Amino acid sequence: MSLNASSSNPTSPPIVLTGDRPTGPLHLGHYIGSLKARVELQNTARQFILLADTQAMTDNVGRHQRVTENVMEVALDYLAVGIDPEKSTIFIQSQIRELYELSMVLLNLVTVSRLERNPTIKEEIRLRGFERDIPAGFLTYPVSQAADITAFKATLVPVGHDQLPMIEQTNELVRRFNNVVGQDILVECKEMLSATSRLPGIDGKAKMSKSLGNSIQLGATPAEIKKAVNAMYTDPNHLRVEDPGQVEGNVVFTFLDAFDPNKEEVEELKAHYRRGGLGDSVVKRRLEAQLQAMIEPIRTRREEFAKDKGEVLAMLKRGTERARAVAAQTLSEVNAAMGLNYF
Ligand code: ATP
Ligand code: MG
Repeated sequence: MSLNASSSNPTSPPIVLTGDRPTGPLHLGHYIGSLKARVELQNTARQFILLADTQAMTDNVGRHQRVTENVMEVALDYLAVGIDPEKSTIFIQSQIRELYELSMVLLNLVTVSRLERNPTIKEEIRLRGFERDIPAGFLTYPVSQAADITAFKATLVPVGHDQLPMIEQTNELVRRFNNVVGQDILVECKEMLSATSRLPGIDGKAKMSKSLGNSIQLGATPAEIKKAVNAMYTDPNHLRVEDPGQVEGNVVFTFLDAFDPNKEEVEELKAHYRRGGLGDSVVKRRLEAQLQAMIEPIRTRREEFAKDKGEVLAMLKRGTERARAVAAQTLSEVNAAMGLNYF
């Protein structure tokens, strides 16, 4: 899509807000769905990247340490793929009090039934087995996400497919807020979807996800990559090499589409597989070689950055301070518009 997303001034560079829940190290779904775009965007946009620890707490009650420990892991993934903290502002969500403030203002502008209709929330509730025992914070996390986006007046949000309902919800809240206060203070945003906005897990069921154990991490070792590719779901009816095979829903081909730069050869392989005479192991070896070559430099850089975690933490502190100043400015406008500036 065009980078000239709507903003108050059409000639100014887009403001990008994006981020990840620190529930585990990042995986190939993040890389292809969002991280790659961020590395390019940091040269043309004003980019804020948040480590969404507050949001991750909503479905990790009692496992809060898992969240706080993974802040460092995700920060290392960012640096490893080439996000440059001088160009992008990387920050920790929980350390910006203004985001909690804005969430409380926005929570009154949405109904419980509207929140319950969110298809991503429905799916996540099902996958986590919450049924009716949903933490209220989990049901309302799209509102906190809207606060994250609007506190920075972001115009462009690079996300995977699962986040589209959150963008829609955010823009509804922006319109509602501006309407209620009678001023244009918050700004609507547009999503930026990559060509692979929903990479499946290696089992071919749900999307690849940190919480589902179906992922290939960006720091994966050669042995882990090999094991994951071997375990990938293919066509269960493709029993003998000479049998015709199905490409649709076959995870190995989905991954080749996402990661193999030679599209023509991939199309030829697909045709051969459909005809019969091409074994799963040949296709898997090709994919494995691609993934090994792609992940190797990321893993090496990750190991380098991991040697000085103190420096990574100092980088996060600087980013958080920079981000907080921006959010504080928006909140002073929001509070003034609401009459919440008594003194
Ligand atoms: P969790 O299981 O904790 O929710 P996750 O793997 O879904 O973790 P998030 O931190 O929720 O990762 O998502 C961060 C960003 O990465 C979002 O923009 C999301 O849309 C994108 N993303 C996550 N998984 C995929 C995927 N499989 N394919 C493409 N994009 C993805
Ligand atoms: Mg998720």
